[in-house]
Amino acid sequence: MIGFERDFQPHPPGGLAMLRARMRDAFVMLVAGRWPKPSPPAQASPLDDRMMQRALELARASAAQGEVPVGAVVYRLSTGEILGESGNTRERDNDPAGHAELLAIRTAAKHIGDFRLHECGLAVTLEPCAMCAGAIVNARLQRVVFGAWDAKAGFAGSLGNLLDHHRLNHRVPPIASVRGDECATLLKDFFRDLRTREKQHRKDAKSTKKGKDQD
Ligand SMILES: [Zn+2]
Repeated sequence: MIGFERDFQPHPPGGLAMLRARMRDAFVMLVAGRWPKPSPPAQASPLDDRMMQRALELARASAAQGEVPVGAVVYRLSTGEILGESGNTRERDNDPAGHAELLAIRTAAKHIGDFRLHECGLAVTLEPCAMCAGAIVNARLQRVVFGAWDAKAGFAGSLGNLLDHHRLNHRVPPIASVRGDECATLLKDFFRDLRTREKQHRKDAKSTKKGKDQD
């Protein structure tokens, strides 16, 4: 169904127009009792947990291929059927949009032949970034669970919350920290190993240069 109550304008609203629009929004929300309240905390279900375990397997497989270890699964909430899953593929495909959850969403939408994933959940090992949070809202996912928080890029609570924004027409308050320790440890270990390898690489390059200079 296409939403008809959209407001498209050719120019950005000016200062006064913007202020007027904000005041109108606030008034309407106050009168209608729709003042944005924080969503009630939700609990992960056993199905969410099982899906997060699968997402962790995908994240580990990504790490083995030199990708940042993030995994994601889109599943049917009524049956637990996996409709799409992926790890990160940014390095392999040289694709800035190669994030696990974006790829899992695309696969699931193709699989069911509809971009609206109303009856689906998403489990992802890392808090979604702005791009993926945008894709989640556009896919109308009904449920989102994530593992580790991403203080520098997360848009499901860290830098902002696109998943639960009161001015967007679809909201999906995320359930955070599901197997959070496992997900965070996987990422920390990956980056620690990467730093160690880089350090060793620099050391080796230095000693090779020294050896050549002495020849
Ligand atoms: Zn992302």
